[in-house]
Amino acid sequence: MFWQKEVETIGRKALEELQLKRLNQTVQRAYKNIPFYRDTFSKLNIKPKDITSLKDIQKLPFTTREDLRENYPFGLLAVEREQVVRLHTSSGTTGKPKAIFFTKKDIDQAAELIARCLTMTGIKKDDVLQNMMTYGLFTGALIMHYGAEKVGVLVIPAGPGHTKRQIALMQDFKTTTLHLTPSYALYLADVMNNQGLNPKRDFFLRRAYLGAEPYSEGTRKKIEKFFHIDVYNSYGLSEMNGPGVAFECVEKNGMHLWEDNFIMEIINPETGEELPDGEKGELVLTTLCREAMPILRYRTRDITTVIPGKCKCGRTHRRISRIIGRTDDMFIVRGVNIFPQQIEQVLMGVKGVAQNYQIILESYDQMTVRVEISRDLFDGRIEHLMSLQSEITEKLRSEILVKPKVELLEPGTLPVSEGKATRVIDKRTL
Ligand code: ADP
Ligand code: ZN
Repeated sequence: MFWQKEVETIGRKALEELQLKRLNQTVQRAYKNIPFYRDTFSKLNIKPKDITSLKDIQKLPFTTREDLRENYPFGLLAVEREQVVRLHTSSGTTGKPKAIFFTKKDIDQAAELIARCLTMTGIKKDDVLQNMMTYGLFTGALIMHYGAEKVGVLVIPAGPGHTKRQIALMQDFKTTTLHLTPSYALYLADVMNNQGLNPKRDFFLRRAYLGAEPYSEGTRKKIEKFFHIDVYNSYGLSEMNGPGVAFECVEKNGMHLWEDNFIMEIINPETGEELPDGEKGELVLTTLCREAMPILRYRTRDITTVIPGKCKCGRTHRRISRIIGRTDDMFIVRGVNIFPQQIEQVLMGVKGVAQNYQIILESYDQMTVRVEISRDLFDGRIEHLMSLQSEITEKLRSEILVKPKVELLEPGTLPVSEGKATRVIDKRTL
């Protein structure tokens, strides 16, 4: 099912022509209306007219989150203040927030992209979407909300938390679709399990959109199995509208990134050099349709790869893989680069392990992985679970090449998260 079949299946050549046209418009607007870009262009000794092919994008300056912060609050606005109808800020997982502005047209365009995403997963007007992301300054809930309304779905603006009420809403209004973070999905599953609820028997769920933070394929499988649903990965960031930048289709093999709205590059984060499809690197995005706040070559700090080849669904927009991690989340122990998600992937594959875990970095050569055991395994003691502990240690060692200390915890020991979870506690920098 398509929302805008023509654009979603556009041929590569036509897509690239469209990208170039929009890139030129964006560059001109940024140069004309944003002093920050005018200055960086002149430092690099370039003018908008120097961009004559898509390759020329490499002549343009990168924009970093520090640039966004330095130009806070209004510095990167490309339209008159009167044209702005909405302010969002990034959720501030890392440092102080950045202001993101939308004109009416920007909101509509962001909703349009969500409509494509949702339709791609088979959602219809008779579906009921319970939106469990945080409403407010965070883009996660509101942008999804507007897009879902555009499709004509019934949206329940539940917000996160209040798990008992969530469950009641899901039953009373026959929710078919959830939008939430993976950490909250796991928590919700735990609560349902404890209440003796069986998703297949007691609910009407068909699918969930999970995003806003990295999670592993193992976590997806676990959630799909528990709820009896399809889980679709949803990627976005406030700087680029919020959700709806890239989303999985029914093939569930990578997320189509809407290339008529964004130009993507994958670069080596250290050198800034462009990498070919299939190689892992930092995702860099340029907006092509944004009025209020065009952003050139934004360093997302998210590590991913472009999946080579065509998707069976017929969409031509290239797919990115699951986000492997953020360059900020990566930590180094004994000289090895490690992402929390690698640890999660291992833990999810071990029987007897619950969903919650925490990584403590004690020193530059010692880390501890604290992990909750599952309720069915817990009989009031954990001392006798030596074999489980060594199994986890061994599996982690073979994945990350560093032998961590593994600490088993009683179920429910670690804090639960309704939004984005904090997985790493770095005592080295405290
Ligand atoms: P903040 O940077 O303050 O967390 P946002 O709320 O805009 O700001 O979050 C965007 C970030 O969330 C992305 O850059 C990415 O790191 C992460 N993210 C969003 N969706 C996903 C996803 N599906 N998988 C992994 N990470 C994601
Ligand atoms: Zn597809």
